[in-house]
Amino acid sequence: MNTLPCILTIAGSDSGGGAGIQADIKTIAMNGGYAMSVITALTAQNSMGITGIHAPDPEFVAWQLRAVLDDFPLAAAKTGMLFSGPIIAAVCDRLAAKTFPLVVDPVSVSQTGHQLLKDDAIAMLVERLVPLADVFTPNRPEAEVLTGLKIDTPADVRTATARLQAMGAKAVLLKGGHFDGDRMIDWLALPGAEPIALEQPRIDTVHTHGTGCTLSSAIATWLGRGYGVREAVVAAQKYLNLALRAGFGPGRGAGPANHSV
Ligand code: PLP
Repeated sequence: MNTLPCILTIAGSDSGGGAGIQADIKTIAMNGGYAMSVITALTAQNSMGITGIHAPDPEFVAWQLRAVLDDFPLAAAKTGMLFSGPIIAAVCDRLAAKTFPLVVDPVSVSQTGHQLLKDDAIAMLVERLVPLADVFTPNRPEAEVLTGLKIDTPADVRTATARLQAMGAKAVLLKGGHFDGDRMIDWLALPGAEPIALEQPRIDTVHTHGTGCTLSSAIATWLGRGYGVREAVVAAQKYLNLALRAGFGPGRGAGPANHSV
């Protein structure tokens, strides 16, 4: 019998198709998983920006999650845009007893500058969600907000990842996309370990919409397929690299990574 590992994304919808749930489902499928989705928010969005956000009642987010957890043998899950404190709480209530690995992408602000996480939700994220993360994947600005540090040097990366692990994240992947320079280094701190540099060629492209969503979904899929954290991160980086090389702009603004790779 053919089976695929069931991978759940808990995230927001991007009507433009390039980020959020839509990027997650494409990524999970392309990396060999069967995608399920709990939708935490709807964005009215295209390549030029977000014109509206509609968040469902947190109880309905919980309802979706309950329906999925009651039936399917999940191999892994990821969280993306969770938007508000009550939605984070509803998700964490249902995930507290989870038996599968969870990747947490602390999605905060879109590349077009729109807020995807309310300011007053950060405390809930730190208190409830970070401790459930088997792999926590902040970018530089997110890690700076969460740790209160300015992160420039490898020594700063060490301090920041240690601080995030002290908050309860098991492994931390501090993503390198927002650092300057020709090299693209993601820093991976495994549980109880110093961060190691995982380098990829930097792709010179404007079509980077949805890269964080893509990376975290690919990590979850490879974890669900049985890879260890380091191997899953490297496999996910390779997939993202291919998708970025093929990135394209279907609209008037910058486009997404291309999942048909
Ligand atoms: N819209 C949704 C629903 C998202 O989840 C995300 C990112 O996680 C974005 C937009 C932002 O994508 P980007 O910052 O890559 O443009």
